[in-house]
Amino acid sequence: MCRDAWRCCIRRLKAAWGAATFHASFSLGNRKSLKVALRISIMATSKRNNPVLTFKILIKGYVRKIGRNGIAASPTTLLIRSGGLNIIADPGTNKRLLLSSLKKEGIGPADVGIVFVSHYHLDHTINIALFQNAKVVDGTTVYDGDREMPHKGVIPGTKIKIIATPGHAQEHAALLIPTRLGRVVFASDVFWWKSWEKQRLDLEKEDEYATNMRALKRSRRELLNAADYIIPGHGKMFKVPR
Ligand SMILES: [Zn+2]
Repeated sequence: MCRDAWRCCIRRLKAAWGAATFHASFSLGNRKSLKVALRISIMATSKRNNPVLTFKILIKGYVRKIGRNGIAASPTTLLIRSGGLNIIADPGTNKRLLLSSLKKEGIGPADVGIVFVSHYHLDHTINIALFQNAKVVDGTTVYDGDREMPHKGVIPGTKIKIIATPGHAQEHAALLIPTRLGRVVFASDVFWWKSWEKQRLDLEKEDEYATNMRALKRSRRELLNAADYIIPGHGKMFKVPR
């Protein structure tokens, strides 16, 4: 914390432009040019420290009936961009749709640096191997080839928080993404609906796959408190009612 604003400005200016630039502007005594330099330097510093996070739903998660007993399912797949880093959350099962959606965004699988998986149900994970250059992140760990390192509760290199949300599966985790829109939570299967169900918010809703319904209800409440918008595992994004 700086003691006064003037000293704080000097520090920011030095960090962004280097001491030489600062001395040149200052010695000229040109207040206007100094102000402009200051503003640009603050923008540069905050952009470097807080790259704008944007997101795009590549696939809206679905669970459809096929035939008598079968289903077709893929979860919501999210593309998050943070600075130059492309992150895919829950790559799902639908390879064709995933690749074509990525192409529309102007990126290929090789451009993805991180794949996040919310939990280990196969409908969320089958497409991981498409992303040959990506590190894989789950609720606790970063996997880089055969190496495993615990993470610090964020997607490495970003401000995206990873929140433990057990219940649907013991290892389940969600993402809290600070965006211009507000706090967007990638909730995955903490909230999900079949395509033939009405998407109605019900904290008590039974989940036939849940390993611990009590924990799941707690996770649902926690995410609703943390979010302005929720992206469910299967279903459409919704605004949290206040
Ligand atoms: Zn699941």
